Amino acid sequence: MSQFRLSRRPDIGDKVRVSFEFFPPKTDEMEERLWQTVSRLRPLNPHFVSVTYGAGGTTRERTARTVRRILTETDLTPAAHLTCVDASRAEVDAVIGDFAAMGVQRFVALRGDPPEGVGAAYRPHPQGYANGAELVGGLRALGDFDISVSAYPEKHPESPDFATDIEMLKRKVDAGATRAITQFFFDNDVYERYVERARRAGIYIPIVPGILPVHNFRQVANFSARCGAHVPAWLAERFEGLENDPQTHALIAAAVAAEQVLDLVERGVFDFHFYTMNRADLVFAICHMIGIRAGQPGAQAQPAAA
Ligand code: FAD
Repeated sequence: MSQFRLSRRPDIGDKVRVSFEFFPPKTDEMEERLWQTVSRLRPLNPHFVSVTYGAGGTTRERTARTVRRILTETDLTPAAHLTCVDASRAEVDAVIGDFAAMGVQRFVALRGDPPEGVGAAYRPHPQGYANGAELVGGLRALGDFDISVSAYPEKHPESPDFATDIEMLKRKVDAGATRAITQFFFDNDVYERYVERARRAGIYIPIVPGILPVHNFRQVANFSARCGAHVPAWLAERFEGLENDPQTHALIAAAVAAEQVLDLVERGVFDFHFYTMNRADLVFAICHMIGIRAGQPGAQAQPAAA
Protein backbone atom coordinates (compact mmCIF):
# COMPACT_ATOMS: atom_id res chain seq x y z
CA MET A 1 0.00 0.00 0.00
CA SER A 2 1.30 3.41 -0.89
CA GLN A 3 -0.97 5.65 1.18
CA PHE A 4 1.96 7.11 3.07
CA ARG A 5 3.49 8.51 -0.11
CA LEU A 6 0.07 9.77 -1.19
CA SER A 7 -0.82 11.49 2.04
CA ARG A 8 2.31 13.62 1.65
CA ARG A 9 1.46 14.73 -1.87
CA PRO A 10 0.41 18.35 -1.50
CA ASP A 11 -1.72 18.56 -4.64
CA ILE A 12 -4.32 15.82 -4.15
CA GLY A 13 -6.95 18.18 -2.77
CA ASP A 14 -6.92 20.19 -6.01
CA LYS A 15 -7.76 17.09 -8.04
CA VAL A 16 -10.27 15.32 -5.83
CA ARG A 17 -13.99 16.07 -6.09
CA VAL A 18 -16.56 14.86 -3.59
CA SER A 19 -20.32 14.62 -3.27
CA PHE A 20 -22.30 13.78 -0.14
CA GLU A 21 -25.48 11.76 0.28
CA PHE A 22 -28.04 12.48 3.01
CA PHE A 23 -31.36 10.90 3.88
CA PRO A 24 -34.43 12.97 4.79
CA PRO A 25 -34.88 13.13 8.57
CA LYS A 26 -37.93 11.59 10.27
CA THR A 27 -37.94 13.48 13.55
CA ASP A 28 -37.02 16.94 14.83
CA GLU A 29 -33.97 15.48 16.52
CA MET A 30 -32.81 13.83 13.30
CA GLU A 31 -33.48 17.07 11.45
CA GLU A 32 -31.26 18.93 13.90
CA ARG A 33 -28.46 16.40 13.38
CA LEU A 34 -28.77 16.59 9.60
CA TRP A 35 -28.40 20.37 9.63
CA GLN A 36 -25.40 20.19 11.92
CA THR A 37 -23.91 17.72 9.43
CA VAL A 38 -24.72 19.92 6.45
CA SER A 39 -23.14 22.96 8.18
CA ARG A 40 -19.99 20.99 8.99
CA LEU A 41 -19.58 19.57 5.48
CA ARG A 42 -20.70 22.62 3.47
CA PRO A 43 -17.33 24.44 3.64
CA LEU A 44 -15.71 21.44 1.91
CA ASN A 45 -17.41 22.71 -1.25
CA PRO A 46 -18.88 19.42 -2.55
CA HIS A 47 -19.72 19.05 -6.23
CA PHE A 48 -23.32 18.31 -5.13
CA VAL A 49 -25.24 16.85 -2.22
CA SER A 50 -27.94 14.27 -2.82
CA VAL A 51 -31.07 13.46 -0.81
CA THR A 52 -32.47 9.93 -0.90
CA TYR A 53 -36.04 8.91 -1.64
CA GLY A 54 -37.58 6.40 0.76
CA ALA A 55 -38.79 2.94 -0.08
CA GLY A 56 -42.11 3.02 -1.90
CA GLY A 57 -41.92 6.79 -2.27
CA THR A 58 -42.69 7.08 1.43
CA THR A 59 -40.40 10.03 1.97
CA ARG A 60 -41.50 12.03 -1.06
CA GLU A 61 -42.59 15.00 1.08
CA ARG A 62 -39.58 14.80 3.37
CA THR A 63 -37.17 14.51 0.43
CA ALA A 64 -38.76 17.60 -1.15
CA ARG A 65 -38.62 19.52 2.13
CA THR A 66 -34.95 18.68 2.67
CA VAL A 67 -34.02 19.59 -0.91
CA ARG A 68 -35.93 22.88 -0.62
CA ARG A 69 -34.13 23.76 2.60
CA ILE A 70 -30.75 23.02 1.00
CA LEU A 71 -31.68 25.30 -1.90
CA THR A 72 -32.94 28.17 0.22
CA GLU A 73 -30.57 28.06 3.19
CA THR A 74 -27.24 27.04 1.65
CA ASP A 75 -25.18 27.58 -1.47
CA LEU A 76 -24.97 23.81 -2.04
CA THR A 77 -26.22 22.16 -5.22
CA PRO A 78 -28.82 19.49 -4.38
CA ALA A 79 -29.58 16.34 -6.34
CA ALA A 80 -32.95 14.72 -5.67
CA HIS A 81 -33.18 10.92 -5.70
CA LEU A 82 -36.26 9.52 -7.42
CA THR A 83 -37.63 5.99 -7.64
CA CYS A 84 -40.27 4.34 -9.83
CA VAL A 85 -41.87 2.39 -6.97
CA ASP A 86 -45.68 2.30 -6.77
CA ALA A 87 -46.16 5.35 -8.97
CA SER A 88 -47.43 5.91 -12.48
CA ARG A 89 -45.33 7.79 -15.01
CA ALA A 90 -47.66 10.78 -14.62
CA GLU A 91 -47.10 10.81 -10.85
CA VAL A 92 -43.32 10.55 -11.19
CA ASP A 93 -43.34 13.25 -13.89
CA ALA A 94 -45.33 15.52 -11.56
CA VAL A 95 -42.71 15.04 -8.82
CA ILE A 96 -39.96 15.85 -11.34
CA GLY A 97 -41.89 18.96 -12.38
CA ASP A 98 -42.21 20.07 -8.75
CA PHE A 99 -38.48 19.65 -8.19
CA ALA A 100 -37.65 21.48 -11.41
CA ALA A 101 -39.95 24.35 -10.41
CA MET A 102 -38.03 24.55 -7.13
CA GLY A 103 -34.79 24.96 -9.11
CA VAL A 104 -33.49 21.39 -8.95
CA GLN A 105 -31.37 20.47 -11.97
CA ARG A 106 -29.83 17.23 -10.74
CA PHE A 107 -31.45 13.88 -10.12
CA VAL A 108 -30.35 10.42 -9.03
CA ALA A 109 -32.68 8.14 -11.00
CA LEU A 110 -33.45 4.72 -9.50
CA ARG A 111 -35.90 1.91 -9.95
CA GLY A 112 -36.10 1.36 -6.19
CA ASP A 113 -36.90 -1.75 -4.18
CA PRO A 114 -40.28 -3.48 -3.79
CA PRO A 115 -42.41 -2.10 -0.92
CA GLU A 116 -42.15 -5.55 0.74
CA GLY A 117 -38.39 -5.00 1.00
CA VAL A 118 -35.12 -6.05 -0.64
CA GLY A 119 -35.32 -9.62 -1.90
CA ALA A 120 -39.04 -9.59 -2.80
CA ALA A 121 -39.86 -9.72 -6.51
CA TYR A 122 -40.09 -6.25 -8.07
CA ARG A 123 -43.40 -5.58 -9.82
CA PRO A 124 -43.48 -2.34 -11.80
CA HIS A 125 -46.56 -0.12 -11.54
CA PRO A 126 -48.72 -0.95 -14.60
CA GLN A 127 -48.53 2.65 -15.84
CA GLY A 128 -45.11 3.30 -14.33
CA TYR A 129 -41.48 3.44 -15.38
CA ALA A 130 -40.34 -0.20 -15.21
CA ASN A 131 -36.71 0.39 -14.28
CA GLY A 132 -33.93 2.91 -13.92
CA ALA A 133 -33.35 3.15 -17.68
CA GLU A 134 -36.98 4.08 -18.39
CA LEU A 135 -36.88 6.69 -15.62
CA VAL A 136 -33.74 8.24 -17.12
CA GLY A 137 -35.58 8.43 -20.45
CA GLY A 138 -38.53 10.12 -18.72
CA LEU A 139 -36.24 12.68 -17.08
CA ARG A 140 -34.44 13.41 -20.36
CA ALA A 141 -37.79 14.02 -22.05
CA LEU A 142 -38.67 16.60 -19.40
CA GLY A 143 -35.50 18.67 -19.22
CA ASP A 144 -31.78 19.04 -19.66
CA PHE A 145 -31.01 17.56 -16.27
CA ASP A 146 -27.81 16.14 -14.78
CA ILE A 147 -28.80 12.50 -14.16
CA SER A 148 -26.90 10.08 -11.94
CA VAL A 149 -27.76 6.38 -11.93
CA SER A 150 -26.75 3.40 -9.81
CA ALA A 151 -23.99 0.90 -10.60
CA TYR A 152 -23.14 -2.32 -8.78
CA PRO A 153 -19.47 -3.38 -8.73
CA GLU A 154 -20.51 -6.75 -7.27
CA LYS A 155 -23.60 -6.82 -9.57
CA HIS A 156 -27.13 -6.13 -8.43
CA PRO A 157 -28.58 -9.09 -6.45
CA GLU A 158 -31.30 -9.48 -9.13
CA SER A 159 -28.75 -9.71 -11.95
CA PRO A 160 -28.12 -13.31 -12.98
CA ASP A 161 -24.62 -12.35 -14.18
CA PHE A 162 -22.36 -9.38 -14.83
CA ALA A 163 -23.31 -9.24 -18.51
CA THR A 164 -26.97 -8.57 -17.57
CA ASP A 165 -25.94 -6.03 -14.98
CA ILE A 166 -23.65 -4.13 -17.36
CA GLU A 167 -26.33 -4.31 -20.06
CA MET A 168 -28.74 -2.51 -17.70
CA LEU A 169 -26.13 0.16 -16.99
CA LYS A 170 -25.62 0.56 -20.74
CA ARG A 171 -29.37 1.05 -21.20
CA LYS A 172 -29.31 3.80 -18.58
CA VAL A 173 -26.36 5.48 -20.32
CA ASP A 174 -28.05 5.21 -23.73
CA ALA A 175 -31.16 6.79 -22.20
CA GLY A 176 -29.09 9.81 -21.13
CA ALA A 177 -27.40 9.22 -17.76
CA THR A 178 -24.61 11.66 -16.93
CA ARG A 179 -22.73 9.54 -14.37
CA ALA A 180 -23.08 6.36 -12.37
CA ILE A 181 -22.60 6.20 -8.61
CA THR A 182 -21.72 2.79 -7.24
CA GLN A 183 -23.15 0.79 -4.43
CA PHE A 184 -20.60 0.79 -1.60
CA PHE A 185 -17.83 -1.81 -1.71
CA PHE A 186 -14.73 -2.54 0.34
CA ASP A 187 -12.46 -4.20 -2.21
CA ASN A 188 -11.01 -1.74 -4.71
CA ASP A 189 -10.04 -4.54 -7.12
CA VAL A 190 -13.75 -5.36 -7.48
CA TYR A 191 -14.49 -1.73 -8.42
CA GLU A 192 -11.62 -1.59 -10.89
CA ARG A 193 -12.73 -4.82 -12.59
CA TYR A 194 -16.29 -3.48 -12.86
CA VAL A 195 -15.11 -0.22 -14.45
CA GLU A 196 -13.02 -2.24 -16.93
CA ARG A 197 -16.08 -4.38 -17.80
CA ALA A 198 -18.16 -1.24 -18.32
CA ARG A 199 -15.52 0.39 -20.53
CA ARG A 200 -15.28 -2.79 -22.62
CA ALA A 201 -19.07 -2.59 -23.06
CA GLY A 202 -18.72 0.95 -24.45
CA ILE A 203 -19.79 2.78 -21.26
CA TYR A 204 -17.73 5.94 -20.92
CA ILE A 205 -19.56 8.03 -18.33
CA PRO A 206 -17.82 8.54 -14.96
CA ILE A 207 -18.43 5.62 -12.57
CA VAL A 208 -18.03 7.33 -9.22
CA PRO A 209 -17.22 5.08 -6.26
CA GLY A 210 -19.73 5.26 -3.41
CA ILE A 211 -17.81 5.21 -0.13
CA LEU A 212 -19.49 4.11 3.07
CA PRO A 213 -17.63 5.04 6.26
CA VAL A 214 -18.41 2.24 8.72
CA HIS A 215 -20.20 3.99 11.58
CA ASN A 216 -21.54 0.72 12.93
CA PHE A 217 -19.91 -2.44 11.66
CA ARG A 218 -22.72 -4.79 12.71
CA GLN A 219 -25.35 -2.71 10.90
CA VAL A 220 -23.18 -2.43 7.80
CA ALA A 221 -22.59 -6.21 7.76
CA ASN A 222 -26.35 -6.87 7.98
CA PHE A 223 -27.19 -4.36 5.28
CA SER A 224 -24.38 -5.60 3.01
CA ALA A 225 -25.75 -9.14 3.12
CA ARG A 226 -29.11 -7.83 1.85
CA CYS A 227 -27.79 -5.62 -0.93
CA GLY A 228 -25.14 -7.99 -2.27
CA ALA A 229 -22.04 -6.11 -1.09
CA HIS A 230 -19.29 -8.39 0.19
CA VAL A 231 -17.74 -7.71 3.60
CA PRO A 232 -14.17 -9.07 3.48
CA ALA A 233 -12.88 -11.09 6.44
CA TRP A 234 -10.08 -8.56 7.06
CA LEU A 235 -12.69 -5.83 7.58
CA ALA A 236 -14.63 -7.92 10.09
CA GLU A 237 -11.37 -8.62 11.93
CA ARG A 238 -10.53 -4.93 12.19
CA PHE A 239 -13.83 -4.17 13.95
CA GLU A 240 -13.88 -7.35 16.03
CA GLY A 241 -14.44 -6.70 19.73
CA LEU A 242 -15.21 -2.98 19.30
CA GLU A 243 -19.00 -3.20 19.78
CA ASN A 244 -18.78 -1.29 23.07
CA ASP A 245 -15.84 0.92 22.20
CA PRO A 246 -17.22 3.67 19.95
CA GLN A 247 -14.09 5.80 20.08
CA THR A 248 -11.77 3.08 18.76
CA HIS A 249 -14.49 1.99 16.31
CA ALA A 250 -14.57 5.53 14.86
CA LEU A 251 -10.77 5.71 14.61
CA ILE A 252 -10.63 2.37 12.79
CA ALA A 253 -13.51 3.42 10.51
CA ALA A 254 -11.70 6.63 9.53
CA ALA A 255 -8.49 4.69 8.88
CA VAL A 256 -10.28 2.03 6.78
CA ALA A 257 -12.13 4.57 4.62
CA ALA A 258 -9.05 6.77 4.21
CA GLU A 259 -7.00 3.75 3.14
CA GLN A 260 -9.67 2.82 0.59
CA VAL A 261 -9.97 6.33 -0.82
CA LEU A 262 -6.21 6.92 -0.96
CA ASP A 263 -5.72 3.61 -2.75
CA LEU A 264 -8.38 4.64 -5.29
CA VAL A 265 -6.62 7.99 -5.79
CA GLU A 266 -3.45 6.01 -6.45
CA ARG A 267 -5.42 4.10 -9.12
CA GLY A 268 -6.43 7.37 -10.80
CA VAL A 269 -9.86 7.96 -9.26
CA PHE A 270 -10.54 11.56 -8.22
CA ASP A 271 -14.32 11.66 -7.83
CA PHE A 272 -15.97 10.23 -4.70
CA HIS A 273 -19.54 9.99 -3.41
CA PHE A 274 -19.83 9.59 0.35
CA TYR A 275 -22.77 7.86 2.01
CA THR A 276 -22.73 10.15 5.05
CA MET A 277 -25.58 8.50 7.00
CA ASN A 278 -26.24 12.13 8.03
CA ARG A 279 -23.06 12.15 10.13
CA ALA A 280 -20.18 14.50 9.48
CA ASP A 281 -17.19 13.45 11.52
CA LEU A 282 -15.81 10.48 9.59
CA VAL A 283 -16.48 12.05 6.20
CA PHE A 284 -14.90 15.33 7.30
CA ALA A 285 -11.81 13.50 8.57
CA ILE A 286 -11.45 11.43 5.38
CA CYS A 287 -11.86 14.52 3.20
CA HIS A 288 -9.18 16.26 5.27
CA MET A 289 -6.84 13.33 4.70
CA ILE A 290 -7.28 13.56 0.93
CA GLY A 291 -6.41 17.23 1.01
CA ILE A 292 -9.86 18.81 0.92
CA ARG A 293 -9.90 21.86 3.14
CA ALA A 294 -12.77 24.04 4.30
CA GLY A 295 -13.19 27.11 2.14
CA GLN A 296 -11.07 25.87 -0.74
CA PRO A 297 -12.69 26.16 -4.16
CA GLY A 298 -12.28 22.42 -4.75
CA ALA A 299 -11.84 20.72 -8.10
CA GLN A 300 -15.24 21.46 -9.60
CA ALA A 301 -14.01 21.46 -13.17
CA GLN A 302 -11.95 18.31 -12.86
CA PRO A 303 -13.30 15.44 -14.94
CA ALA A 304 -13.52 12.07 -13.19
CA ALA A 305 -10.76 9.66 -14.17
CA ALA A 306 -12.85 6.53 -13.74
P1 FAD B 1 -32.12 -0.67 -12.17
O1 FAD B 1 -30.89 0.03 -12.59
O2 FAD B 1 -33.35 -0.43 -12.93
O3 FAD B 1 -31.87 -2.23 -12.15
C1 FAD B 1 -30.93 -2.79 -11.24
C2 FAD B 1 -30.56 -4.19 -11.69
O4 FAD B 1 -31.72 -5.04 -11.73
C3 FAD B 1 -29.97 -4.19 -13.07
O5 FAD B 1 -28.58 -4.02 -13.03
C4 FAD B 1 -30.39 -5.55 -13.58
O6 FAD B 1 -29.44 -6.50 -13.27
C5 FAD B 1 -31.65 -5.88 -12.86
N1 FAD B 1 -32.79 -5.58 -13.73
C6 FAD B 1 -33.73 -4.63 -13.55
N2 FAD B 1 -34.63 -4.64 -14.57
C7 FAD B 1 -34.24 -5.63 -15.40
C8 FAD B 1 -34.74 -6.14 -16.63
N3 FAD B 1 -35.83 -5.63 -17.22
N4 FAD B 1 -34.07 -7.16 -17.21
C9 FAD B 1 -32.96 -7.69 -16.65
N5 FAD B 1 -32.45 -7.24 -15.47
C10 FAD B 1 -33.06 -6.24 -14.88
N6 FAD B 1 -33.24 3.11 -3.18
C11 FAD B 1 -34.25 3.91 -2.74
O7 FAD B 1 -35.36 3.41 -2.45
N7 FAD B 1 -34.09 5.26 -2.59
C12 FAD B 1 -32.92 5.89 -2.88
O8 FAD B 1 -32.80 7.11 -2.74
C13 FAD B 1 -31.82 5.07 -3.35
N8 FAD B 1 -30.63 5.65 -3.69
C14 FAD B 1 -29.62 4.85 -4.20
C15 FAD B 1 -28.43 5.47 -4.61
C16 FAD B 1 -27.39 4.71 -5.15
C17 FAD B 1 -26.12 5.40 -5.59
C18 FAD B 1 -27.54 3.29 -5.26
C19 FAD B 1 -26.41 2.44 -5.82
C20 FAD B 1 -28.73 2.66 -4.87
C21 FAD B 1 -29.79 3.44 -4.34
N9 FAD B 1 -31.01 2.85 -3.96
C22 FAD B 1 -32.03 3.66 -3.49
C23 FAD B 1 -31.19 1.39 -4.03
C24 FAD B 1 -31.88 0.94 -5.34
O9 FAD B 1 -33.18 1.47 -5.42
C25 FAD B 1 -31.94 -0.60 -5.32
O10 FAD B 1 -30.65 -1.14 -5.40
C26 FAD B 1 -32.88 -1.23 -6.34
O11 FAD B 1 -32.98 -2.64 -6.05
C27 FAD B 1 -32.45 -1.12 -7.79
O12 FAD B 1 -32.64 0.13 -8.28
P2 FAD B 1 -31.79 0.59 -9.60
O13 FAD B 1 -32.15 1.95 -9.96
O14 FAD B 1 -30.37 0.28 -9.35
O15 FAD B 1 -32.43 -0.43 -10.63
